[in-house]
Amino acid sequence: MKSAIKLLWLPILLFPMLAGADDRAALQELLNTFLAGASVSDIAAHERFWADDLVYTSSNGTRRGKPEILESRSAADPAAGDEPAIAYSAEDVSIRLYGDTAVVAFRLLGRTEGQPQPAEFFNTGTFRKRDGEWQAVAWQATRIPAPEAPGDWIDLSHELSPDAVFWPTAAPFAMTTDFEGMTDKGYFYSAYSFCTAEHGGTHIDAPVHFAEGAHHVNEIPVDQLIGAAVVIDVSAAVQADRDHRISVADVEAWEAQHGAIPTGSIVLLRTGFGQYWPDAAKYLGTARRGAEAVAELSFPGLHPEAATWLMEHRGIKAVGIDTASIDHGKSSHFETHVALMTHNVPAFENVANLDRLPPTGAFVVALPTKIRGGSGGPLRIVARLGGN
Ligand SMILES: [Zn+2]
Repeated sequence: MKSAIKLLWLPILLFPMLAGADDRAALQELLNTFLAGASVSDIAAHERFWADDLVYTSSNGTRRGKPEILESRSAADPAAGDEPAIAYSAEDVSIRLYGDTAVVAFRLLGRTEGQPQPAEFFNTGTFRKRDGEWQAVAWQATRIPAPEAPGDWIDLSHELSPDAVFWPTAAPFAMTTDFEGMTDKGYFYSAYSFCTAEHGGTHIDAPVHFAEGAHHVNEIPVDQLIGAAVVIDVSAAVQADRDHRISVADVEAWEAQHGAIPTGSIVLLRTGFGQYWPDAAKYLGTARRGAEAVAELSFPGLHPEAATWLMEHRGIKAVGIDTASIDHGKSSHFETHVALMTHNVPAFENVANLDRLPPTGAFVVALPTKIRGGSGGPLRIVARLGGN
């Protein structure tokens, strides 16, 4: 009698679990197929995944429907080479079923070619099953900040290599092998020679670069190259205008939020262009080289009035930027260089990883190669995050 009761109950208990298992498998499969397709910007994958009545809220605070998503995907065709390939994968996938509704939560990893750390997001999607097919009706993406902690050092330098972005008129970085291999004495030995323009890759502009009689690179006081940093993020303005010049108003807007820039700060300007490195077409506005390419340069920079304001009112030590020049790309008279350098204020250019620094609280060390009489040179710039 006891076993008969068990037998009776078993199918009743198992049936909803089995039905749930099918839906779970279908949703997992749908997600896997979608991420594989999204990694190659496959429109069909998006078409299948998103419901027509989708509400999608992105991590950067924009809200889109299915038509806008399909439109942005068709614009980003990786075959056209205008978008770096991002390989997406999901971890910690949790699928919860509520009849014909399901909530799928997971951690999305987006690995961009050539970037060591994947971008991570918490994604939560609500799915509805209609005519036997699951589709996402609501989506929420939240970026997970990089797990950086007080005391961590952040490298703000790009690697110097023949791939590094150099001004169109400068010869690219070159390295030759003097010796590399096993010596006849039985130890390994390698040595190379390199040749580089002073103003290529992550580098410093010594004041004499644009001001006669000002400091050469070897003469810049070390104290001016080390200190507390503020990071002014103008990437939103730059998204609207890639030739944006960071203005006094931009600086004042930053101060309204974070307080006055302390005297003796190193001011780092984050335009968001660091993400394009080393794609010269995107980063400089042109991949062409030579004097005729200079007219095609297009990237943001610091307005000379803002440079003067920062020196007069905030007594800054130095400025840095994540573009190829402290003046914007369309500059022909380099007024910002002249303004800064006349006052012996150096500039750091092609600074990397500014997205990893907080607005305040980072401490910067920016030591260039000590070339006698140089107008600039390769710069190793690093930042330590605040805290004790
Ligand atoms: Zn320079």
